[in-house]
Amino acid sequence: MMNKELNLNSYILNKISDVRKIVKEYKKQGLTVGFVPTMGALHEGHASLIKESVAKCDKTIVSVFVNPTQFCPGEDFEKYPRTLEADTKLAVEIGADYVFAPSADEMYQGVNSLKDIDLTYVTPAYRYVDKLCGKSRIGHFDGVALVVTKLFNIVQPDFAFFGMKDAQQLFILKKVVRDLNIDVEIIPCPIVREESGLALSSRNKYLSENGKQKALCLNKILKNIEELYKNGVTDVKKATDGAFALLPHDAELEYLEFVDYDTFEDVENLKPNTLVALSVRIDGVRLIDNILL
Ligand code: AMP
Repeated sequence: MMNKELNLNSYILNKISDVRKIVKEYKKQGLTVGFVPTMGALHEGHASLIKESVAKCDKTIVSVFVNPTQFCPGEDFEKYPRTLEADTKLAVEIGADYVFAPSADEMYQGVNSLKDIDLTYVTPAYRYVDKLCGKSRIGHFDGVALVVTKLFNIVQPDFAFFGMKDAQQLFILKKVVRDLNIDVEIIPCPIVREESGLALSSRNKYLSENGKQKALCLNKILKNIEELYKNGVTDVKKATDGAFALLPHDAELEYLEFVDYDTFEDVENLKPNTLVALSVRIDGVRLIDNILL
């Protein structure tokens, strides 16, 4: 037990300076570095990203950091699951070389909220923020853009792996990288689901068995729209109509939106490359999912 713990600890880096030292050495040796940023509570969705990185890159660094600046007031920052030991074990078993798990102080020197004025901001273009999740999670994507930019500057990866489950995050980060000339290639990875169709999420841990059953409605709504589209329905309103019948009576549909995957502009008529994305609150737990037509 003692040995195992010691071994796991040897894979965990808490200091920015240690990450820099290790990556510098990798680069000196001409090795490529893959990076998988996460907030921990790792599941098979995260695991798929780590596997992709291990397959593509010589070295893989996973970060585990529950980033305070991307949580909005009233969200679950305090109760967000923190399971660093299990996360490290999973990452290392897949083949990750290190887990970077900084404290909030190490990342922000005492600054914990975007309300703090003593902070340099990275502000994504508003037109891509003011839809889907960004509409209700005010400031969320500012926090994401800031922390990922910082992590890119610290790790300086060649490739970074992000899940398509967070499609708006993926789009915004690709734009941040392009706009700020960050020297990293972003690799999108497909959504991993349970057999039931439920997209894996760290927040699924908050759901009861009954809640998990109700949560199947997200995928059912998306599948229904996909089916209608395959049968020739292109009118967004017609495609949306059936959604409400699939929603449990006590679930709250926060949004169901249609955007072009490449431009993130609203789509009026369904066409190939349309991203259908939704957020539903089940028993107070906010879940998201999407599908690409
Ligand atoms: P998080 O820990 O929620 O910040 O997620 C870290 C990364 O894992 C993000 O790039 C997510 O999009 C990705 N991710 C989370 N859930 C899944 C999933 N079910 N399938 C694929 N990627 C996922």
